[in-house]
Amino acid sequence: MRVFKFGGASVKDAEGIRNLARIVARETDDLAVVVSAMGKTTNALERVVNALWLREQEQVEREWALIEEYHRGVADELGVTLDLRFPETQATMDSYDELYDQVVSWGELMSTRLVSAYLTKVGIRNEWLDMTRLLITDATFRAAQVDFPATEDNLLAHFAYRPGAEYANRARVRVLQGFIGGTADGRRTTLGREGSDYTAALVAAALNAESVTIWKDVPGILTADPRKDKSATLIPELSYEDAERLAASGAQIIHRKTIFPLERKQIPLYVKPFLQPDAPGSVIRNTKLKLSVPVNWGK
Ligand code: ASP
Ligand code: MG
Repeated sequence: MRVFKFGGASVKDAEGIRNLARIVARETDDLAVVVSAMGKTTNALERVVNALWLREQEQVEREWALIEEYHRGVADELGVTLDLRFPETQATMDSYDELYDQVVSWGELMSTRLVSAYLTKVGIRNEWLDMTRLLITDATFRAAQVDFPATEDNLLAHFAYRPGAEYANRARVRVLQGFIGGTADGRRTTLGREGSDYTAALVAAALNAESVTIWKDVPGILTADPRKDKSATLIPELSYEDAERLAASGAQIIHRKTIFPLERKQIPLYVKPFLQPDAPGSVIRNTKLKLSVPVNWGK
């Protein structure tokens, strides 16, 4: 089984989600598909939280209407129906961080519902999973720490396949949210901004996946930010150590916490261009290769 992760830029519009479905349809292995909130939804939801916190009701409604319109528009274009209501939450106005996680997690819950509904529509049988019940964390809202043993147990039980047995829950493709989790008593939490890569690594490690692929809007891991430096070149292969160093130096390639769970289980991580699935991209894996090209990601 393998893990695919699609970031916000990859699912920002109907064409992005169609492309995701095409990439998923090519696979014959079992897949865990980890999805971020669509486009800039997380930023927009942060504005909702701020307005809620300041009790600026009009601002809340204005921001919320835009988010709703965006999601409804994409759902309409894909020909699927989507219930945009907030799932039940236990949000209170006692803690900003707790409120934040209850509201912001909506982005991933919706993007995954949309992706799951569209996959079903095009004939890709799949199961939608709610990570707020599977990825167990402490109650450090906005920077939740993962309870690895509990999460691993949950994921293993959920993905379990008993050969020979007719397993009702078995679907080839599972769609799940990046970035979000939940406390043992069911309160939603988030892992910190850009945390979906980390989710993909945790899921892969728990399930002993063959590999993780992060699908991005860049050709792979580059030596510099291509928007600022036209001479940026692709790094085809790098070690876990070099990847960690690169991530720590501010390179916007993958979330820092992503490497460790993969290194521990020696699971390779591919970074591939979303629009050219056959391009080689980059791979982070156990290699003696040392990064020899100069890297300049600022910071
Ligand atoms: N949607 C979240 C964010 O924008 C998580 C992620 O994209 O990885 O930070
Ligand atoms: Mg995002």
